[in-house]
Amino acid sequence: MSFSDFTRRRSSAPTTTAEPPFDNHLADMIVRSSDNVDFHVHRGVLAMASPIFHEFFISSHYPRAAEPPVEHMSEESGTIDSLLRLLYPVKSPVLGDVNAIVPVLEAARKYQMEELALMLRKKLVSPPFIEAEPLRIFALAIRLDLEREIATAAKYTLRQSWPPPYTVELKNIPASAFHRLLDFRERCSTRASLLGSDFRWMNNKVGIQSSWAWFKCGRCAKDDAYIVVENQQRYPRSWWRDYMRRAESALRENPCGNTLKTSTIMWPTLQSIADPNRMCGCATAQALDDFRAFVEIFATEVEELVSEIAEEFTFN
Ligand SMILES: [Zn+2]
Repeated sequence: MSFSDFTRRRSSAPTTTAEPPFDNHLADMIVRSSDNVDFHVHRGVLAMASPIFHEFFISSHYPRAAEPPVEHMSEESGTIDSLLRLLYPVKSPVLGDVNAIVPVLEAARKYQMEELALMLRKKLVSPPFIEAEPLRIFALAIRLDLEREIATAAKYTLRQSWPPPYTVELKNIPASAFHRLLDFRERCSTRASLLGSDFRWMNNKVGIQSSWAWFKCGRCAKDDAYIVVENQQRYPRSWWRDYMRRAESALRENPCGNTLKTSTIMWPTLQSIADPNRMCGCATAQALDDFRAFVEIFATEVEELVSEIAEEFTFN
């Protein structure tokens, strides 16, 4: 593939000069955007960032003329401006939404600017974008064939209720990819909710303490299920088991760690702990700390399970 594959056909429309610093007439070439904005740039900078430009400059024989040569690009001026601001030692562009990131990422990949593309891929799946619009980013990642970002976005869709809000980017992906996302959700839902009823994952797990209030209490109603803690069977109290039942059902809807920390799931247990009349006297501030510590371990377990499922899953 040669550089000319990337350039657009020349047009005779009037041109304007880019904003500073890309109006510097000491530059040795001009990059003209598809909307006819001239960016005054340095071949050395572009060649260092992109092997495509590097090869092109090696094979080009520019005449020794007073005016710098002009190369016509297929990208719009906004995209070229952001791309150049990321390459030059100037203030970074504001890429405040997904619409601003995607064209720059596409250009960075096209010109094989690996480091830049990697940085933009990370930005695409960073909060707040991924938290606000996981399905949209999933669809974009499918279209751009970004394997890691597809899996990350798929995991974030689990935090939203189903069906998620419509996003126009779904028009650009095959129905099979959406079907795979449904499959993924189903698999995560089944396996994560099981953690709320089958406690074997806790057996001798680091962090699970026999000193926790629901193991230590000898008076509140006891549950049938047991957990092996430090090689001994421990029977949790039923007030703890009530939380696990709520967790099991909530994880079926939203199989992700955050589900376990929502007020709806935690509140009845916190109420019990706050009201000594409901329990034997094991309801103490320590019980609250124990419960919080447990919820963190449980949430991490769910996240690890979901990541494991995502890793072995083929989304496209
Ligand atoms: Zn008790």
